[in-house]
Amino acid sequence: MVRVPLSPPRGMDDILPDEMPLHRRLVETVRLLFRLYGYLEVETPPVESYELFAVKSGEEILSHMYVFRDAHGRQLALRPEMTAPIARLMAGRLSRSPKPIRLGYVADCYRLDEPQWGRRRRFYHGGFEIFGSREPAADAECLVIFNDFLRRVGVRDYFFKIGHVGVQRAIMSSAGVTGEGQDKILSLLDKGRVEDAEEMLRQHAASGETVYLFGELARHAPGRADETIERVMEKVGGIKQAAKELENLKKIVELASEVIEPSSLIYYPGFARGLSYYTGFIFEAYGEGVDIALGGGGRYDGLVSLIGGPEMPGVGFAIGLTRVMQYLTDRAAVHARPESPLAYVVPLAGEAVSLAFKLATRLREAGVSAELDPSTYTPQEAIKRAERRGARFLFLIGRREVERNTVSVRDLVERIQEEWRIEEIYGRAESLLGRVRVGS
Ligand code: AMP
Repeated sequence: MVRVPLSPPRGMDDILPDEMPLHRRLVETVRLLFRLYGYLEVETPPVESYELFAVKSGEEILSHMYVFRDAHGRQLALRPEMTAPIARLMAGRLSRSPKPIRLGYVADCYRLDEPQWGRRRRFYHGGFEIFGSREPAADAECLVIFNDFLRRVGVRDYFFKIGHVGVQRAIMSSAGVTGEGQDKILSLLDKGRVEDAEEMLRQHAASGETVYLFGELARHAPGRADETIERVMEKVGGIKQAAKELENLKKIVELASEVIEPSSLIYYPGFARGLSYYTGFIFEAYGEGVDIALGGGGRYDGLVSLIGGPEMPGVGFAIGLTRVMQYLTDRAAVHARPESPLAYVVPLAGEAVSLAFKLATRLREAGVSAELDPSTYTPQEAIKRAERRGARFLFLIGRREVERNTVSVRDLVERIQEEWRIEEIYGRAESLLGRVRVGS
């Protein structure tokens, strides 16, 4: 016999019945937000051509990608993120759609990260992307949606780490550093290697003054966005484009502050993100007590044209649903438990099975979830089994009920029992739904 491993590959997780309700709640919240904010949901394959990500995903992601060849020698990759596949749609089949267009997705992504808390090799992203608008309102909408999500799923103390790579890029451009050089320097900054970033800037023949300004920004203390932006403006104001980019950040923060508590918007002037396609506003969300982000995103105005589409601005973000799930579970903000049926139907004798079948069907038609135990039991045993499944109502059908064409209904919480005639089931099933709603 071949020995098959009974665990999934390292760093990948099965989602078991007791975890599924929370996973689904997070996914359903994302989908509710699609509807509320006008995002059209799309799905793309988990496998893409390697080049799609190689173009501009940043070395950090590229070095952690699952890459393989198919039988024809084509180089493929498991998607490490969804912005590039969505940009592929915008460059291709959706390129002519009226703008702005909002696209949403819920997708599993794959990265060869070292497995640890919140870092898995397969995880879910719930994402929102807006194409065709350069307006700060589009950037601010990303913050507002993420804020909405966190409140709805019960993440309490959180803050948004905000930055703007447009400011850093403007400083570097003023010193003649090209896009690719900028990407490399930002990638060093992202890893916290400020001195290496400065050194590379120097190698790109930047003036001492530019290197100094860049370093000063990189080391600048974070603070409330509205106040910190003013302080940074005093420093970079001399570089016209940098001042313009910072003004853009200021507008985004002002708009977002209409909805989000301003003290939870924190500007980190030295912030850069691992993906090199970002061109402007960037952000990440952090929950209290954890130092890895619950999600993040930013503006990527050049991405669609880079992969062969028309010039098209874009801004968006992804929520790390798997990480949020772990965060909530660890804080006991939610309890893992499998989904329970409202009704549990048990035939107490062989001749009751067909009536039990009919009853379960009628309950479902009335919208009541009903699980049928296919074997027959004693009433005591039936109660135990129904409770174990977390059902609220137990439907018992014995010989007596078959003779009288009735069913016995036991409310396992109120501990009361009634007898219903079969014809009454439709009408009375609705009362069960009402009882649960009032009680919950
Ligand atoms: P990124 O595309 O790197 O900006 O990722 C966005 C979000 O996805 C992060 O903030 C995390 O919440 C989540 N994420 C990224 N990598 C992983 C991973 N290996 N495991 C679980 N979640 C992840």
